[in-house]
Amino acid sequence: MNVLVINCGSSSLKFQLINSDTEAVLAKGLCERIGIDGRLVYQPAGGEKEITEADMPTHKQAIQMVLDALMNEKTGVIKSLAEVDAVGHRVVHGGEKFASSVVINDEVMAAIEECNDLAPLHNPANLIGIRACQELMPTAPMVAVFDTAFHQTMPSKAYLYGLPYEYYEKYKVRRYGFHGTSHSFVSKHAAEFLGMDLENSKIIVAHLGNGASISAVVNGKCVDTSMGLTPLEGLVMGTRSGDMDPAIMEFIAKKEGLDIAGVMNVLNKKSGVQGLSGGLSSDFRDLEEGMDNGNELAKNAMEVFCYRVAKYIGSYVAAMNGVDAIAFTAGIGENAGTVRKMVLAYLEYLGIAVDEEANSKRGEDMVISTADSKVKVAVIPTNEELAICRETVALV
Ligand code: AMP
Repeated sequence: MNVLVINCGSSSLKFQLINSDTEAVLAKGLCERIGIDGRLVYQPAGGEKEITEADMPTHKQAIQMVLDALMNEKTGVIKSLAEVDAVGHRVVHGGEKFASSVVINDEVMAAIEECNDLAPLHNPANLIGIRACQELMPTAPMVAVFDTAFHQTMPSKAYLYGLPYEYYEKYKVRRYGFHGTSHSFVSKHAAEFLGMDLENSKIIVAHLGNGASISAVVNGKCVDTSMGLTPLEGLVMGTRSGDMDPAIMEFIAKKEGLDIAGVMNVLNKKSGVQGLSGGLSSDFRDLEEGMDNGNELAKNAMEVFCYRVAKYIGSYVAAMNGVDAIAFTAGIGENAGTVRKMVLAYLEYLGIAVDEEANSKRGEDMVISTADSKVKVAVIPTNEELAICRETVALV
């Protein structure tokens, strides 16, 4: 069957049409600047990228353009909408209501809406995307795949904050975790690739992208992850601070004359390696180049990032009382051999040795630890769209 995978943001929308039998991507692309002006990037498998500038006042119009492109006589990949058998939607926050993917109905829509408070920038946009697809494809079954669902197996000792318990009872203030689709896909695939029994395994997944998080997965189930109520907690990221002393917020607010929104803007958009590098860049390619050219701030940023990753891995070895494998994924995890090497240098005590030649490659499933390493280390490219497609097929 053909599954249309939709990842809808407030002014953008990414899509892939996947044949679930062969798992081949038939076409992919994105709509940008929805509600501002509009731009569609469309690429059929094996074909050229096409860019169309056209007004997209609403998400419904954007999705209509995507469907028209998919059915285009020359560059389309399907003849009619009947060839879209199901739609899989990425939904950011499922709160405590969703521990797995679900077929969307009115009740599910209402439950997603109830989680809007927890992800005010993302969930409303996800809902708009679902409604637009429902209007344009009223007979296609729709599935919601949540970023938070995989982490719902965390025990309360991992998800509760040291705050008054009533905040959890009244407002559901707790740790949820994100990138769940990726952590789930990569942990399963890592076990398969490394010839391990998932049901009898301890795996740490380091999803290191512009947003970055780590998870501890025992027997295929998440027991801890580094992001929290929001995706701000945990690792130092591209522009996000990650963990810090919460009292810094009051201190900076007073010194800089900022309100809560102003401080949050700094923590989300001006911090992380971008902030640490004195504004040089949030991109690790630029930081590596800076470090090679003797830029001390770029070097600091790389070191702080890697040290934090290593500390989280160490804490998850404690949480799981051991580890069998560590998997690196996402933009940095898949491509930045220097970062992997800097992180793994802290983990020699686990009996990990890096295979330098393997570690210099990128972008494919590979083992980067030496044959005699006690813990296997792998690079496993993530594929959230394929994971959403598989979940969708399993449910419909
Ligand atoms: P993601 O959010 O998973 O798309 O990851 C994006 C990030 O991956 C970028 O901001 C870069 O920091 C990083 N990245 C991508 N390609 C490379 C590369 N060849 N070397 C180092 N870092 C890379």
